[in-house]
Amino acid sequence: MVRLELTIEVEEPLILANKHAAGNIVHTLDYISGTALRGAFAARYLSLKGLSQKDEFTQFFCSNEVRFGNLYPESESEGDFVFPLPISAKTCKGYKGFKKDDPSKEIHGVSDYLLQEIPESCAAKSDLLGGRIVFCKAPLETYPCFYEFRPGNYRDCKKVEVGKRFSVHSEIDDKYKRSKEGILYTLEHINEEEKFVGNIFFSQESLYESFDKLFFSSRTPISFIKIGQARSRGMGKVIVTNSTRGDSPFFAMSKGTVEERIKAFNDGKLDTNEIQFSLTLFSDAIICDKFLRYLTTIPEWLVEEELNISSSKIEKIKAFTAYRMLSGWNAALGLPKENEIVINKGSSFLYTFKGSGEEENRNLIRALEELENRGIGFRRNEGFGEIIVCDPVHLYLRELEETR
Ligand SMILES: [Zn+2]
Repeated sequence: MVRLELTIEVEEPLILANKHAAGNIVHTLDYISGTALRGAFAARYLSLKGLSQKDEFTQFFCSNEVRFGNLYPESESEGDFVFPLPISAKTCKGYKGFKKDDPSKEIHGVSDYLLQEIPESCAAKSDLLGGRIVFCKAPLETYPCFYEFRPGNYRDCKKVEVGKRFSVHSEIDDKYKRSKEGILYTLEHINEEEKFVGNIFFSQESLYESFDKLFFSSRTPISFIKIGQARSRGMGKVIVTNSTRGDSPFFAMSKGTVEERIKAFNDGKLDTNEIQFSLTLFSDAIICDKFLRYLTTIPEWLVEEELNISSSKIEKIKAFTAYRMLSGWNAALGLPKENEIVINKGSSFLYTFKGSGEEENRNLIRALEELENRGIGFRRNEGFGEIIVCDPVHLYLRELEETR
């Protein structure tokens, strides 16, 4: 597999809506979905080449051979990575956030509870009243956001904010060319100069080369693409500021190899008859059972099927999951897309594998590596179903415990 790393910079306000708004406020997502990225490149392809080479178009945009990943906000510091925070991570409701978010404020921190019991309330020492230690005791809650970390270091994590603002518009009357009475609406958009990074994955070298040549290395490389809503009204222009070939797998680079991560989850031992591993969604996933009913979790039987392991060897121990309804618009057909249920990014699952020693555990590691490379579920070429095995953040994000 070949990976193309992309950095894009917002040049005109960006609106990335993921559902039809009820009411008159349209909110934007704070990342660029693979679906939007694929659509933008497909539109650009058609304007450059038309449909003269239909097979190539199909291979680029309608097969699983090219996968357009989500683009997440760029990190503040070079060398850091930005990931969605797992749902298993909780923060104090009273003093929420990562400790490094704002050193001037009292913040109790964020901890991950996939591998440990969730306490009833925040146990941070809050204030000293008359020499007495007072514990915070505020409830814990999830903290949906992107966090920034340096590989191997989960003590200095920080929330990543995306700059956004609102603008108010009125609809224009077609006949009188003035504001239509009673129709006022508000759009939320991502600010200019925000940067996003992500990957496009190619199954073969030749596909990567022809894609790179067409869009980035030709005599007239593309200077911009249009993404999101209101593209004809001065919005949605982004420029590709960087496109380079990534040499190592993305998750191995940011989180270590699968073997290293599994070892860390099992006290460094692989020669036992039972080992633990986790699966964490890096992007939303669409998963169905045999009867095409949407699932809101990743059940044992599906993991066994994906890893090609005989049944009842894997047991699910814990799951932190959230889901939502996804709708969309098919620009080519001019029709709404069918609503789908997606499991939200950040959902985390913990399993045990009952093998028979090191050899079988090593086979499991190989199967998990393959799963991480190919992802899970439907619409993977639009960035759905990217999955991380044994994310170290579950082991090392422990800010709340450190304040005790
Ligand atoms: Zn607290």
